[in-house]
Amino acid sequence: MTLRVPVSFEFYPPKTDEQRLQLDRTAARLKSHKPEYVSCTFGAGGSTLSYTPETVQRLREEHGLDAAPHVSCMGGTQEELRSLLKLYRALGCRRIVALRGDLPSGMARMGDFRYASELVEFIRTEHDGFFHIEVGCYPEMHPQAEDAFADMKHFKAKADAGADGAITQYFYNADAYFRFVDDARKLGIDIPIVPGIMPISNFAQLRRFSEACGAEIPRWIGKRMLAYGDDADSIRAFAAEFVANLCDRLIEGGAPSLHFYTLNLSKPTLNVLDLMR
Ligand code: FAD
Repeated sequence: MTLRVPVSFEFYPPKTDEQRLQLDRTAARLKSHKPEYVSCTFGAGGSTLSYTPETVQRLREEHGLDAAPHVSCMGGTQEELRSLLKLYRALGCRRIVALRGDLPSGMARMGDFRYASELVEFIRTEHDGFFHIEVGCYPEMHPQAEDAFADMKHFKAKADAGADGAITQYFYNADAYFRFVDDARKLGIDIPIVPGIMPISNFAQLRRFSEACGAEIPRWIGKRMLAYGDDADSIRAFAAEFVANLCDRLIEGGAPSLHFYTLNLSKPTLNVLDLMR
């Protein structure tokens, strides 16, 4: 099936052989949808320091995918970031997802960067236009922002520093995305804003994640999920249909492409892609 817009898939870096096999299976299955690129997350503070480059290399060389690393600057020094960027250049990467990151709780590490805008500036200063830089943005507001307007201003600072595109935090309310894009355009932010899509696989886990990152799960979705109880088939079918409808609405409303948070699982994403128009 041909999708109406390009898609990209996000993975996290596996640490064990079993997880590596799972990523191999997932990447092989998702490849049939010809992603524009795939990306691999990075634990701020260096918790995946070697795993992310290793995974990017594996996705590029063994799966033939255009794999882009996430680079989180929080807790990192300029020197560390400099060598990481050099390594990614050597691996043939031309795209980077540049983030501040969140340090794992209990980890307090001083670094040279406070915000992602400083990382974007650093990458542009060191490598000029070599990398295509994606940044994160938050249609339902980043949980640490003073308010929605301040958050939008900080998003603009990343675009002004040289970001080429943005991927949103996941959301389940299409209107929040449309409003966010309208507000961004009014402020002169003209880079593509790609919806981040989180297919629903484990609802309890999703609820925890969402509380931490400030994404709202509509009340009626929660009620429906609860009503299904242990009926896993009905939960899966409903979740896929709901997320596929969201994607269709986003595309109809002008979303330039879709970025799927796969959590290294193929089925929840494939179920959504199969149901999209
Ligand atoms: P920033 O843009 O720096 O913003 C962080 C907060 O600071 C916001 O509240 C913002 O409003 C505020 N702010 C920014 N500039 C200023 C300023 N000058 N003065 C005052 N306040 C300011 N995390 C990881 O650790 N690894 C990953 O691989 C990863 N991948 C992600 C991918 C995507 C697409 C997204 C959307 C998020 C990802 N995250 C990842 C999570 C992200 O790192 C967190 O949401 C983090 O808290 C914010 O990162 P940021 O790059 O948006 O930060």
